[in-house]
Amino acid sequence: MNAVELTCELVRIDTINPRSPERPAAELCARLLEKAGWQVRLHEFAPGRASVVARREGPGERKPICFAGHLDTVPLGARAWSRDPFAGEIDSGKLHGRGSSDMKSGVAAMVAAALLMKRFPKAGMTLLLLAGEETGCEGAAHLARLPGALGSAGALVVGEPTGNQPVLGHKGALWLRARTRGVTAHGSMPERGVNAVVKAARAVLQLAEVRFAIAPDPLLGAPTLNIGTIAGGLNVNSVPDEAAIGIDIRTIPAQRHAQVRKELQAALGPEVELSALVDLEGVRTPEDDPFVQTVLGIVEAPPGVATYFTDASVLTPAFGGVATVVLGPGEMALCHQTDEYCRVDRIEESVEVYGRIARAWCGS
Ligand SMILES: [Zn+2]
Repeated sequence: MNAVELTCELVRIDTINPRSPERPAAELCARLLEKAGWQVRLHEFAPGRASVVARREGPGERKPICFAGHLDTVPLGARAWSRDPFAGEIDSGKLHGRGSSDMKSGVAAMVAAALLMKRFPKAGMTLLLLAGEETGCEGAAHLARLPGALGSAGALVVGEPTGNQPVLGHKGALWLRARTRGVTAHGSMPERGVNAVVKAARAVLQLAEVRFAIAPDPLLGAPTLNIGTIAGGLNVNSVPDEAAIGIDIRTIPAQRHAQVRKELQAALGPEVELSALVDLEGVRTPEDDPFVQTVLGIVEAPPGVATYFTDASVLTPAFGGVATVVLGPGEMALCHQTDEYCRVDRIEESVEVYGRIARAWCGS
């Protein structure tokens, strides 16, 4: 099966997160790799939520290269599709369906490139096909917690959609809930209560003034903070005893999330309790890194950055801050969209590119 056929097959398997577990897609890839002599293990973080770890050993002088992708997709959305999102049809050079760009094409290209690798004279190779990325990198986080599951890596390629342009970093996501508490009382006697909504309103104004004291990243720009939600009070004639604010912070890799939280807590004071909903740090590999230089030489495209976060937020630190490139055949602009598709020529191109990167690392 070539990469284009495998992409079609994977699109035909519904892996909408969380309603449709990844196991059937994981098993399809695992069977192909096993038949070609790869050591394959499936790990589930919940029933049916299977990730694949496939390895080929090298001589051990150099750490393996790791290729990673995710098997899950986002839901279809409210708008009707003009084609069946699970048919895996090709028309006029485009492969249509949910997950075609994000990122079953990338997974298929990685598997196809892996199947073509026969020799590993300098270093081994690892493939991670992960579950649960779209809801906060759950599959990757599970593997990172499981002793020995990930192994080591000397370089990481994440196959998220970049139109085959190498991406050297992305921002982190720190989503926080800020909660305020009060004391309820009858709305006609507010002096007997403590108003949690008023405390939340003060917190919102403080948040709006927050400036991160850090130089912008030359590629990623400055960190941002958005107040996305506010909720409080149950009925108009009571003093509310609880309110909550949802905060979406996009950090740059030079920031540590623990420090960001500490600074926010200091700014908001003790009447606001912060808890994390999503906590994924940013990733950035310098352009002069030798692995990046190898990739840039092979791809012959200028480096870019992505707006989304990826499994690299978990994997890059789990591998000890390894050099990381995001590179995949899907189209960035089509992620999570109605009528998602992937260009067939890009899939073929990425098999070639992944193969050249792997051979350069593994010495074959
Ligand atoms: Zn993705």
